[in-house]
Amino acid sequence: MNTIDRQQLIRQFPLLEQLIRLQETHWFNPNVTSLKDALPYVGLSAQDIQEASDRLARFAPYLAQVFPETAESHGIIESDVIEITAMKAKLEEEYQTVISGSLRLKKDSHLPISGSIKARGGIYEVLTHAEQLAIKAGLLSVSDDYRKLASPEFRHFFQQHSIAVGSTGNLGMSIGIMSAKLGFSVAVHMSADARQWKKDKLREHGVTVVEYLQDYGVAVEQGRKEAENDPSCFFIDDENSHTLFLGYAVAGERLKKQFDQQGITVDEHHPLFVYLPCGVGGGPGGVAFGLKMAFGDHVHCLFAEPTHSPCMMLGVHTGLHDQISVQDLGIDNITAADGLAVGRASGFVGRAMERLLDGYYTLSDERMYRHLGDMDALENIQLEPSALAGIMGPILVSNDADYRHRFALDDATMHNATHLIWATGGGMVPKEEMASYLAKALDEKTRNESAKTTK
Ligand SMILES: *Cc1c(COP(=O)(O)O)cnc(C)c1O
Repeated sequence: MNTIDRQQLIRQFPLLEQLIRLQETHWFNPNVTSLKDALPYVGLSAQDIQEASDRLARFAPYLAQVFPETAESHGIIESDVIEITAMKAKLEEEYQTVISGSLRLKKDSHLPISGSIKARGGIYEVLTHAEQLAIKAGLLSVSDDYRKLASPEFRHFFQQHSIAVGSTGNLGMSIGIMSAKLGFSVAVHMSADARQWKKDKLREHGVTVVEYLQDYGVAVEQGRKEAENDPSCFFIDDENSHTLFLGYAVAGERLKKQFDQQGITVDEHHPLFVYLPCGVGGGPGGVAFGLKMAFGDHVHCLFAEPTHSPCMMLGVHTGLHDQISVQDLGIDNITAADGLAVGRASGFVGRAMERLLDGYYTLSDERMYRHLGDMDALENIQLEPSALAGIMGPILVSNDADYRHRFALDDATMHNATHLIWATGGGMVPKEEMASYLAKALDEKTRNESAKTTK
């Protein structure tokens, strides 16, 4: 939308005032429906997720061979779920709130190959493209042993094709590393906020990194334009890709299996709450879709965004989706949470998933930093700021009686709840960079404490 009448929009949606003032805000969507009623709007099915899962299984022997860090899991890229009791106690104390049920962390931060949630969707989309090219060229059939993709013939074949993507960092890492490994020539168009070490790492892998002084939206647009001029170039479209979305969605059945192994029940009397950091929306949207397909209406998904980049909350709340950006409201989209620095949400994800997401909230960078420090000190888990966005979710759910009432979540049921914070990145952050995150965390903690005592 070229011209947004801000005043008119704020009158219609008073919550926007809070967003504009960069206040931490939450909104539990009253228009959530059952999975059955919402599914037609998603336009994807259990069968689509199954196909993605099967494709990843076909590639697993290849991945185990070319990425030795995945050998132990036989080429399946998956992360652990762990209970974080010390962190739970800390949150309860700090926010003076009881979190009923258990608190767990999904460590996508430590996924192999690229150390973020993007190792799901990004890698999956590159593999899908490679498979299609090779099958079309008569070089591969789905019953083959895919380890043959590591041979010089295949590398030579893929060298004739190129891949491009726009990214704030982590998507570029996943797509760049995977594409380069197969032999593709690959260009990653990086927004200004992307970290230097990510650019360096990609260049080490032989990836072309194109740097922009503007944000993610511009990097994507430029990447798309360059790709259009080259017929052999495949552009990976983070804003609209169903393939990426399905790569993420496989997480649902995988989590269900992990919960089964750990004896964690999810049903009518044992609800599951999942808190997902949201950038453009594909990662959390795809994961939430997979979770809904795996656990049905017993899983409740909430999206978390930085106060400076609340694009999904803005898009869904106003119903304008990708027709509005945070910049249209004068919000700067500047945040330390790399993967979340997105001003305009995916229209596809917002429209597909709005009936399936219980709520949206924003939190400040300062809070992400503070809890980054806590996670290090109390659980010895090192995360990047974005990965802490989920942390406020259990507090908001615990404090909102109306929301729980709407879903008939009484005290006895909440007592059996599992709260799952989806930690989306950090596993590959270099030591010096992590030290500077921790120093910042300490600063914020000190500032917060002195603010409390002077109150
Ligand atoms: C990309 C990313 C997200 C969010 O994924 P989107 O698909 O952009 O919504 C969250 N956390 C981290 C660390 C990321 O890199």
